[in-house]
Amino acid sequence: MKSGKLIVLTGPSGVGKGTLVRSLLNRHPELYLSVSVTTRSPREGEIEGQHYYFVSRSRFEQMVEADELAEWAEFAGNLYGTPYFALQQRIDEGKWVLLEIELEGARQIIDKFSEALRIFILPPSWEELERRLRSRGQDSQSAIARRLLRAKDEIEAAREFDFQVINDDLEIALKGLESVLFVNDGK
Ligand code: 5GP
Repeated sequence: MKSGKLIVLTGPSGVGKGTLVRSLLNRHPELYLSVSVTTRSPREGEIEGQHYYFVSRSRFEQMVEADELAEWAEFAGNLYGTPYFALQQRIDEGKWVLLEIELEGARQIIDKFSEALRIFILPPSWEELERRLRSRGQDSQSAIARRLLRAKDEIEAAREFDFQVINDDLEIALKGLESVLFVNDGK
């Protein structure tokens, strides 16, 4: 029987999770990336249903009420959550499902899916994280400040995760992820 697997990738905003995930999916198209719902406004170039499902706060709250989210959290003033249905469906089909989510959500997932493999992406240094967040120019100064504040708490929790991968050089970080997923085979 095919066995599905849930892989949770967490790390502070600006650490480069998005780039890592895109590269990982390019190299391993058999992986399925869960598309989250969020109340955040789309950034330039973001596509509905591909990067996120962009919803109003009231629609998000309805989904929480109806128990449609496997996890959810507030992050830097916006709500983010993982739709439960698609996630469970893919796992039942035997797929490996990737969640790219923040710390509170990752904690909820481990309560519900104890077999989930959890990986934390670390920056090479605090200074480099700050530089990356500021230089991507996508967020306002106040949003960057909120993200940096949150990053401190997240990095302190890195030890809760099964594996930690440092994203300094992209290729080396990718190899690290691949070895956790495919060689080590996690748990
Ligand atoms: P961004 O606004 O930069 O796209 O995402 C902000 C943070 O929210 C990132 O750390 C990202 O991993 C996290 N995030 C994205 N989708 C979800 C989700 O469905 N649930 C949770 N808990 N966090 C999410």
